[in-house]
Amino acid sequence: MKLLSYWLDTATPAGDFRRRELPARADVVVVGAGLTGLSTALHLARAGVDVALLEANTVGWGASGRNGGMATPGLAVGFPSAVHRYGATRAVAMFRAYNDAIDTVEDLVAAEEIDCSFERPGRLSLAAKPGHYAAFERAAELMRSLAGQDVTLVPRSALHEEIGSDHYHGAMVDPLGAAVHVGRLTAGLARAAVRRGVSIHERCRVVELAGRDVRTDLGTVRAGRVVVATSGYTGALTPWLRRRIVPVGSFVVVTEPLDGTTVAGLLPNRRVASDSRRLLHYFRITPDNRLLFGGRARFALSDRDSDLRSGRILLRDLTTVFPQLSGVRVDYCWGGLVDMTLDRMVHAGERDGIHYSVGYSGHGVQMATHMGKVMAQVLTGDVSANIWRDLPFRAVPGHFGTPWFLPAAGAFYRFLHAVS
Ligand SMILES: Cc1cc2nc3c(=O)[nH]c(=O)nc-3n(C[C@H](O)[C@H](O)[C@H](O)COP(=O)(O)OP(=O)(O)OC[C@H]3O[C@@H](n4cnc5c(N)ncnc54)[C@H](O)[C@@H]3O)c2cc1C
Repeated sequence: MKLLSYWLDTATPAGDFRRRELPARADVVVVGAGLTGLSTALHLARAGVDVALLEANTVGWGASGRNGGMATPGLAVGFPSAVHRYGATRAVAMFRAYNDAIDTVEDLVAAEEIDCSFERPGRLSLAAKPGHYAAFERAAELMRSLAGQDVTLVPRSALHEEIGSDHYHGAMVDPLGAAVHVGRLTAGLARAAVRRGVSIHERCRVVELAGRDVRTDLGTVRAGRVVVATSGYTGALTPWLRRRIVPVGSFVVVTEPLDGTTVAGLLPNRRVASDSRRLLHYFRITPDNRLLFGGRARFALSDRDSDLRSGRILLRDLTTVFPQLSGVRVDYCWGGLVDMTLDRMVHAGERDGIHYSVGYSGHGVQMATHMGKVMAQVLTGDVSANIWRDLPFRAVPGHFGTPWFLPAAGAFYRFLHAVS
């Protein structure tokens, strides 16, 4: 079993951007080469802006190369919660932004000719408890009536048309949900950015933002403006941002390739699936017919031991959902950090002259890519493109560094799942 991301292992990097001489200056310096940073850099370069993209590790090393590869419609908080919090008009705008975000990925893939198996098999949301299906019914009604979203309900009696499992109590299908090979997407975005003149620097950690001077362990770049795109890997560089982001580990296992009959018996429509547990599971079929199965197995950060422990829990859960896979070989196991915010909403704006976009809360494949486009619009003068700009961004009480509260948060979420 490989302890690394299947996506990164099966993609060809855009190039080797280590040990490259830093430019003395750039119109914009972007920190972090995940989907947010890559897309920001590419869209700025398309607008003729001179960009340096600085990455502490390698392109796609963070959550962007480690996720489930699922670009799904809908907010991280359910639509009814968003309507309750923000009112119908605002909630609909936020909800539709996720549809726009999937379109952004699709448009980029087409325009830049990125070979990353982008397709729209639809999203399958699975009810983990009978009461959750009733909540799906209410949510579907609201989504249809307020947002015009074309979602379909699948009662338990018809569930085998969607999934080869008796584990769930009904489902909701949204046809707009998409699947993408994120290793090839990040590499493709990097290739496109380089074509447009972006200067990418890997193994280049930004250690200090001192006015316009961006100090790194490889030297200093004088920046016209700075965009921080460090998501769940936000650290001491931006203490204000770090206090507002809880990095939560999410973990993934990927099986050996399965034969066509087995795949058709698991997810006959190859939809991207997730369930309604608070410590949710998400799963899909990869382009080469493996089952990818992920979840927040434990409330913990990601490292080698943590990933392995979580992988064992996930394999147990995988065979509970799909008993027909007992004995299946697991070829990959890894983990990564999701950037949770207190309200689980996207937060993008400017603080002390530094622009940022973070807080995708597990829904960043589409939204991080989209926010790169939005950040480029903001930096070239269209501030109104950023619909999240007025959301209050609260610090997590007591959070100044490593999140000591994660195990307690895990117990709290498990308790909520048991009683809801
Ligand atoms: C296991 C897992 C599964 C997920 N599944 C899904 C999914 O199926 N669908 C979905 O929509 N979302 C999913 N997500 C969330 C999604 O992957 C993220 O929201 C998204 O990739 C965030 O992109 P980003 O570019 O903002 O951040 P990242 O991709 O995390 O990139 C941040 C980068 O910043 C760099 N960095 C940090 N500090 C510095 C510094 N000082 N100097 C230079 N560089 C620095 C890091 O090295 C890193 O590469 C998942 C996340 C995880 C971890």
